[in-house]
Amino acid sequence: MDCLFCKIADREIPADLIYEDEHIVAFKDINPQAPVHFLVVPRLHIDSLDEISKENDSLMAHILRTIPALAKEQGIENGYRVVNNCGEDGGQTVDHIHFHVLGQREMLWPPG
Ligand code: 5GP
Ligand code: ZN
Repeated sequence: MDCLFCKIADREIPADLIYEDEHIVAFKDINPQAPVHFLVVPRLHIDSLDEISKENDSLMAHILRTIPALAKEQGIENGYRVVNNCGEDGGQTVDHIHFHVLGQREMLWPPG
């Protein structure tokens, strides 16, 4: 499959990896929107949050449990934002589910 994030997870395309295990990888966003901005991605190709099923429960829990540890490791000190863009109106540009983690600046709400 011609998928950018599958290729990054398989190390076919280089990225600034900050974490990997059997199920997920995390790497710095190429176009950071905050002083700390990384993406957490399952190795399993799933198009978007819309495609998540009960079979993915433990994978999703693993992603959410790993995010705070990575945020701390990356030096985020005063809170952070986790974002999933889903579909066209959600602003999704890469069709492999991923969670943005942004920190070290104050976030705006509503996000616009
Ligand atoms: P989306 O818009 O789908 O929620 O987020 C995709 C993100 O992937 C964007 O923030 C974009 O900057 C990032 N991105 C796109 N191509 C690459 C790449 O080749 N390497 C890395 N590290 N990030 C990428
Ligand atoms: Zn993929």
